[in-house]
Amino acid sequence: MDLRALPSVDRLLADAGPLIAAHGRAVVTDALRAELAEIRTSRPDPLPDAPSILAAAEARLTRQARSKLRPVLNLTGTVLHTNLGRALLAEAAVEAATAAMRAPAALEYDLDSGGRGERDSHLRGLLCELTGAEDATVVNNNAAAVLIVLNTLARGREAVVSRGELIEIGGAFRMPAIMEQAGCTLREVGTTNRTHARDYRQAIGPETGLLMKVHTSNYRIEGFTAEVSAPELAAIAHEAGLPLVNDLGSGTLVDLRRWGLAPEPTVAEAVAEGADVVTFSGDKLLGGPQAGFIVGRREIIAAINRNPLKRALRLDKIRIAATEATLRLYRDPDRLAERLPTLRLLSRPQAQIRAQADRLAAPVAKALGCTVSVVDCASQIGSGALPTDTIPSAGLALTPNPEALADGLRGLGTPIIGRIHDGALILDLRCLADDAALLDALT
Ligand SMILES: *Cc1c(COP(=O)(O)O)cnc(C)c1O
Repeated sequence: MDLRALPSVDRLLADAGPLIAAHGRAVVTDALRAELAEIRTSRPDPLPDAPSILAAAEARLTRQARSKLRPVLNLTGTVLHTNLGRALLAEAAVEAATAAMRAPAALEYDLDSGGRGERDSHLRGLLCELTGAEDATVVNNNAAAVLIVLNTLARGREAVVSRGELIEIGGAFRMPAIMEQAGCTLREVGTTNRTHARDYRQAIGPETGLLMKVHTSNYRIEGFTAEVSAPELAAIAHEAGLPLVNDLGSGTLVDLRRWGLAPEPTVAEAVAEGADVVTFSGDKLLGGPQAGFIVGRREIIAAINRNPLKRALRLDKIRIAATEATLRLYRDPDRLAERLPTLRLLSRPQAQIRAQADRLAAPVAKALGCTVSVVDCASQIGSGALPTDTIPSAGLALTPNPEALADGLRGLGTPIIGRIHDGALILDLRCLADDAALLDALT
């Protein structure tokens, strides 16, 4: 074999017009060099001709051009899947975000006076209206909200928390670690399963900066348990002249029972129960973009806004626009489930999902050449909301070789993500908006 017979890069580039138009000359040149280098190493016999080298370079460029962040079909059954990006935005929020990206926006500009405006002003009114709080501010996510609240109210002092609420949310978010970063000392009280009012009272001293209640988002302590209710804890805090911070985690702005779901504490309840500050996430049950909301007493919110960390943790205009549009939807709860994807998906009745599974079983079996049966399954809200409650759902069980099937579906142009359970690959159809999305991904 004579490697000198290989075409030169220049020769190949002369025939690569369409590729260059699609990807640009620089990366096409790199791709051709990479193909030629591989051929020189592997010395295939016979040597590929120019058209096949160009085709191989094209395949390489197509692979490179495909974003790893591309859309996937979430058929895991977990509606707010943290690793798949949590909440899907409402159309109104997508439009508002797009508009904010395309044109200048009056982000910190007061259109009435022509003077400087305030970034948070776009959300403050809505947040106060929807939660009953005096004031509100917004940061990057709820972890940031907890960080800045602790840093503002208890830096160099103690934050009193029940041992039953020292949560780890996942990744590096552990309540004790956040306390340390915020510069305050964690003062644990009670035991894992039982904490009493007297435990808090005994812990309060000259070093205390605040009392904190944390929603035990991703676990439940059951059996012989006791916790101090938020109103009682607020009374204990206020007797001592201290603020009560309530980290709700997911939080929700509406009573989910209206849509047949188990209740999560609402932000308005937490405010009414006497918390001075309440923190919650934008992209969990609320169904908006990633954000961390801080609502509560006016002077505390003002102090948080003066903290230099606020600038480091603030939201950009794109998310402010999307958040405002999302919050606005809550002013009309009657149409919320139609408009807010998170609620729409969570409230889909099992019968409707089963009917969808019945329609899709045969075409999916045909496309994949495997055995497909319709099964009942259980969806989860995800992101730490109602961890022990599941929602009856339905889907497709694919066999045999569920691992190989899962690998194959993950490798598609639009990857399909299911979950392996009991020797089958389960595709929970709760989050499949329309049949065509699945069938298109399979062809
Ligand atoms: C999810 C959660 C957080 C972290 O919120 P992010 O928005 O993910 O940063 C903090 N506290 C609790 C109780 C949570 O459930």
